[in-house]
Amino acid sequence: MIYLDNNATTEIDPRVVDVMIDVLRSGPCNASSQHAVGRAARLRIDEAIDVIGSAIDSPLDQPGGPRLIFTSGGTESNNLALTGLADPDAPIVLSRIEHPSVIAVAEQLAARGREIRWLDVDHAGVAKIDLLPDLIQAGNRPAGLVSLMSANNETGVVQPIEQAAQFCRDLGVTFHVDATQSIGKLPISFRTLGASAVTLSAHKFHGPTGIGGLWIDGGVKLRPLLHGGEQQLESRPGTEPVPLICGMATALQLATSELAQSQLQMSSLRDRLEHGLRSAHPDLVVHGSLPDHGDRSLVPRLPNTTCLSFLGADRQSMLMALDMAGVACSSGSACSSGSSPPSHVLLAMGLPAEQVQSALRFGVSKFSTEKKIDDAIERISRCYKRLRQNRAVEN
Ligand code: PMP
Repeated sequence: MIYLDNNATTEIDPRVVDVMIDVLRSGPCNASSQHAVGRAARLRIDEAIDVIGSAIDSPLDQPGGPRLIFTSGGTESNNLALTGLADPDAPIVLSRIEHPSVIAVAEQLAARGREIRWLDVDHAGVAKIDLLPDLIQAGNRPAGLVSLMSANNETGVVQPIEQAAQFCRDLGVTFHVDATQSIGKLPISFRTLGASAVTLSAHKFHGPTGIGGLWIDGGVKLRPLLHGGEQQLESRPGTEPVPLICGMATALQLATSELAQSQLQMSSLRDRLEHGLRSAHPDLVVHGSLPDHGDRSLVPRLPNTTCLSFLGADRQSMLMALDMAGVACSSGSACSSGSSPPSHVLLAMGLPAEQVQSALRFGVSKFSTEKKIDDAIERISRCYKRLRQNRAVEN
């Protein structure tokens, strides 16, 4: 199988597996226990926190400073941020292309009377950040929280987070960034980002599934989602998963220390895939560009991601044909592809129905190779040609 679904999840780095196996074999790990075994587990967590702090350029757990709340992943971090940050009655501003783990929470809150204000995106999939100040200040009450993703999981389009952070700072609004897709793909400093809270998820950067975090800036208040023991200063009770935490710290350390190299490698492979497919099928549409300029004017994207419309083919049929041909990719977010409604991201970009219906996402990783990409180009081209011919016969 040629795995090109690295925005859904990545393969775990063998060096991370080694670290986790060591911890798993080291014995019981309850960091709240007051004996030597518990203290050893606590020490492992403290060391992991130091490693994570350096990797994200934000020293953690200094009195009054930023801290990281360990969660089960991006979904929980986003739920915690949306429900726990800011005044519970204050309006929330979101873009229309946020991940379902943000949008679905907002819809739940809206059903209970919370006001949600939606920020539009342009045709390239970039949030219209100039509209943000007016949206924050609209109506009778200023927004209390803005939540935006740093890069979109379906198109890879990078969002103007720094500019949003500046507006939020000027207007005194809490700012949450869902950085799930950027970490391990783009350089990021949590210290200078200007956010109040940031979501991360280990399985997107070659770490284990089931662990993520919500970084909270010093002084930012958070209401917990879960209630129970005193772990994590009651922000997220429950026995800390020490092997997962150590796995995430190692994965983050590797992802950031190897970023310069892996970024170049991923973008060269992604471009190879795009160019290879475009030369075989010139009418293929690459998403992330403004309409009048064609794809010569692609906006900044994650180095690993491409979202392509295979005009004349249906995305579900393409997905199945590719699966049979040994290529794993995705039709939109893995979180919604089970039921497979048309992508809310591509719809928000105002793309024609035909492009939305035929869009697939491919994501390479630092473990992808030129040989595999060339092989994938051939298999994808073959499937596409066949589906188009079948459709021509049907019509
Ligand atoms: N946010 C974004 C932008 C994502 O891409 C994802 C994963 N598809 C999530 C949040 C949810 O992360 P997790 O799978 O760790 O719950």
